[in-house]
Amino acid sequence: MSLWKNIDPAPPDAILGLTEAFKKDRNPNKVNLGVGIYKADNGRTPVLESVREAERRILDAGEEKTYLPITGSEAYGEAVRGLLFGENAGAMSERAVTAHAPGGTGALRLGADLLQRFRSASTVWVSDPTWANHHGIFAAAGFEIQSYPYYDRENSRLDFDAMLAALKDVPANDIVLLHVCCHNPTGEDLSPEQWEALAAAACEKGWIPFLDFAYQGFAEGLEADRRGVRAMAEAGPDCLIAGSFSKNFGLYCERAGSLTLTAHTADDAATAESHLKKTARVLYSNPPAHGARIVTTILDDPTLAAQWKEELAGMRRRIHAMRRQLADGLRSRDVPLECDHFERQQGMFSFSGLNGEQVDFLRDEKSIYIVRSGRINVSGLTADNIDYVCESIAEAVK
Ligand code: PLP
Repeated sequence: MSLWKNIDPAPPDAILGLTEAFKKDRNPNKVNLGVGIYKADNGRTPVLESVREAERRILDAGEEKTYLPITGSEAYGEAVRGLLFGENAGAMSERAVTAHAPGGTGALRLGADLLQRFRSASTVWVSDPTWANHHGIFAAAGFEIQSYPYYDRENSRLDFDAMLAALKDVPANDIVLLHVCCHNPTGEDLSPEQWEALAAAACEKGWIPFLDFAYQGFAEGLEADRRGVRAMAEAGPDCLIAGSFSKNFGLYCERAGSLTLTAHTADDAATAESHLKKTARVLYSNPPAHGARIVTTILDDPTLAAQWKEELAGMRRRIHAMRRQLADGLRSRDVPLECDHFERQQGMFSFSGLNGEQVDFLRDEKSIYIVRSGRINVSGLTADNIDYVCESIAEAVK
């Protein structure tokens, strides 16, 4: 008897399924604005020069391939905290512990499983909308999921008043998931003052901030983008921070992520670390080494680190440039869509304002692939395809 005979197949992942369809499309003008991967102006995802050089050095060093410690190497943890906390990293090192996790996704799941073992509450609050996988990850860890208001779709802007009002009603010990920058899928980020108001609400109400920091350096720069981490760390609620080097180092397939826990005292941090180890041990035992070695090789060498920062700035500048060109291209064609938000928002994603039917038209008639919610990845736009995309959107909405 077959184990799978009477079982329905699971639906394909909506975004990755779009890439499969894109790959099969034979139209030479096809454009993929779906999946969340950075593309350069040649339409390819670059391997950064700093990464190539780090890989050469790692190969030459010929390190052993024995297991890493459960939470990864100490050097990687320090490098992660250096980027998360900046000049405060030294002060935070006493009361913050880091596990190298398999990507940002692995970090979120590690944190979710850890929390599930200790919190009396079993609810996690996510923004409406949020990255679809947040729902899947926290549901898989056994959480109930609730949403707080975030994006005002009608006016293409953040609705901070509604967000704060909802978070002031969240019970103590519940988990609140916050995107630190480059909110996925809306591109709408919080100002320093708004972060301070959230940190105050977390302290007052006793909910646990779980910060998802997958795009450090893609919005305004490494320093400016960490403002949410700074606000929370300074206000003092114990929090969790899921980091990822998939985007800012272009290490997507290497699964270099991190989970950092902040605690009130060094003793609390040590206790937290012991449980972090226990949780990771039964999930994947210990993390994959190569991506983390690349990151530490770069960040520990001032010349390579400077080169990486310049390459990261290049990606950020290109995203901003394509945002401007998209807004200009649509405005110049009198497309009846709100365009200002494309220029104001941060990171790779924005809602285009296209509805499901228009998205289908663009896929079927123009081979332009967009997630059905209308979210677009602006880094899929290039000098070669921007006019074609703007022209096609104009046709779709007319
Ligand atoms: N969090 C958000 C908001 C993301 O958009 C992503 C990736 O798209 C992740 C986490 C996970 O990143 P990783 O590829 O490192 O697992």
